[in-house]
Parts: sequence; structure tokens; C-alpha cells
Amino acid sequence: MATIIDGKALAAKVRERAAAEVAELGGRGISCGLAVVLVGDDQASATYVRSKLRDCEQCGIRSFDYKLPAETSQEELMELIGRLNADEDVTGILVQMPLPAHLDTERVVAAIDPNKDVDGFHPMNMGRLVRGLEGLRPCTPAGIMEMLDEYEIDPAGKNAVIVGRSSIVGKPMAFMLLARNATISVAHSRTDPHELARICQSADILVAACGVPKMIKGPWVKPGATVIDVGMDRDEAGKLCGDVDFDSAELVAGAITPVPGGVGPMTRAMLMSNVVLAAKLQHGL
Ligand code: NDP
Repeated sequence: MATIIDGKALAAKVRERAAAEVAELGGRGISCGLAVVLVGDDQASATYVRSKLRDCEQCGIRSFDYKLPAETSQEELMELIGRLNADEDVTGILVQMPLPAHLDTERVVAAIDPNKDVDGFHPMNMGRLVRGLEGLRPCTPAGIMEMLDEYEIDPAGKNAVIVGRSSIVGKPMAFMLLARNATISVAHSRTDPHELARICQSADILVAACGVPKMIKGPWVKPGATVIDVGMDRDEAGKLCGDVDFDSAELVAGAITPVPGGVGPMTRAMLMSNVVLAAKLQHGL
């Protein structure tokens, strides 16, 4: 049976570490403040925002909560981001995605000060990642790297397969694993479906981030492989599940993340880490 990678327990540790750093920075006169901007009344987004604000409170991070109506214009949103960029009490800015369709997400992301970009989505931060430079990294793949380190799974020299190539998960994941000397393959919706199982079977580290419920089955997993399930999907019964068929994959994998309790809590916790890192960057630390 595989080792179950406990994202919840590790997330608690990451939050404790962030809280200690917040206190330490506070002692040096540096405060951490996160502005969270929510446009519209999407219920799932509102829930995510509430949990982020709660995490801030737990870590001693000041939070600034901006709830804007769904009809907010591009100019109004850009103007707010400009103000938050200039506000010294705000050391991190997060605009909750997805934005309503009439807003240009790329323009919004690019308007955030890269040193306050705690989501790590700004082209400057993505560029730094690709160039192998320090910087703010997207929370989900950053959390996965923490999990690998915690469980002493060294990517160096291993074959890593990432299923999914989104800008928030798949692509940054590929570059983070590459930076740690793994050999990378990235599969996506145009990968030959007949080849996908074989590609996955080559993985010592398999990261599933495709948003297709339980697509990756036990026989696709190399015996002893590490399986990281990013998916947050619903099965036929409407129950939360991942992109991996946990029951069959667990029998073959060496280590595996559950859904829930794996990548999700780590994504949340890494946001707190990023808020601390952003404050440090702004103070040249
Ligand atoms: P996107 O929809 O942005 O990207 C999905 C990726 O998977 C795309 O690159 C797509 O290919 C690829 N894909 C889709 N279908 C297939 C298929 N049949 N075979 C191979 N590849 C496929 O999703 P995200 O990256 O945002 O999220 C992925 C999953 O992770 C979702 O379930 C999401 O809910 C979850 N998630 C969980 C987080 C957490 O904290 N646990 C955080 C973020 C996301 P193409 O590019 O060709 O379209």
C-alpha cells in the first residue's frame, strides 16, 4: 500500500512557519498585509476568499477585503490595483479568479506589482521561474514541491509526467521540477489518448492536473511511483474526487496524495508563505 501524503498536516506546519516569520518581521517593524479582491458573487469564489481571510488571521497577517460588484468595469478594477500597488500596508495582492467574462484577466494580472503578486501569475514572475531565478511561485505547484521535500522524494534524475498544461498548475509545475533536475513530459488534451497511459507509466513522479474525474487509473501508474493529484472534481454521485482513481492507484503507487486532504490544503498554506516572501522582497530581504 502506498504512503498517503498528508497535505493537511503539512499545511498546518507551513502556516505555523509563516506565522513565526510574520511575528519575526513584525519585531523588525515590517508588517504583512494581504489585499483580496473579489469581483462578482460567485459562491465558490466567495468561499475561497473567506478561507484565505481566515488563514491570514491565523498567521497574524493583516487582510484587506475588497468585494466589488459583478458589473465593475476594467478601468475601476485597474484603478483599485494601482492604489493597492502604491499602498505600503498592502504587501500582497490577490485577485480571485475567475473574473467575470467582460474583464480582461491578462491585463489585470499584469497590472499587479510583481513583488506583491502572491499568486505568482504575473508574467515577470513566470519569466523568473523559467529563467531559474528566485521569485514568487504559483501556490499549487509550490505546495507540491514542499510535499515532495517533506516526504524526501528527490526529483533529481527522475521521470516526471504532468498531465495538464495550464498557466497556474501544469506549466509552472514542469519548470519547478525541471529546476530540481527531473526529466519532464507534459501531456494535455491533444496528447494522443492511446499514448497517454504509456506516458503516465513512464513517470516516477506523476502529477495529475487535467480536471477530468478519476481519469488516471491504477494500471497507468508505475509501481512505486509518487502520484500527486491536483484535481478537484465531482464524480457521478456529485462527491469531491481527484483526477486520479485513488482506489486503484493506491495499490500500485509508492506514495499518493488524497483528495480531499492533499494538494488543496497545501495550495492555501503556500499563499501565506508567499505573503511573507512578498513582504521580504519589498524590504530587500
Ligand atoms: P485547466 O482547465 O486550466 O487545465 C486543464 C489541463 O488539462 C489543460 O492543459 C488541458 O489540455 C488538460 N486536459 C484536459 N483534458 C485532458 C485529457 N483528457 N487528457 C489530457 N489532458 C487533458 O485546469 P487547471 O490547471 O486550473 O486545474 C486542473 C485541475 O486541478 C482541476 O480539477 C482544478 O479544479 C484543480 N485545481 C486544484 C487546485 C488545488 O489547490 N487542489 C488548484 C488549481 C486547480 P489543453 O491545454 O489542451 O486544454
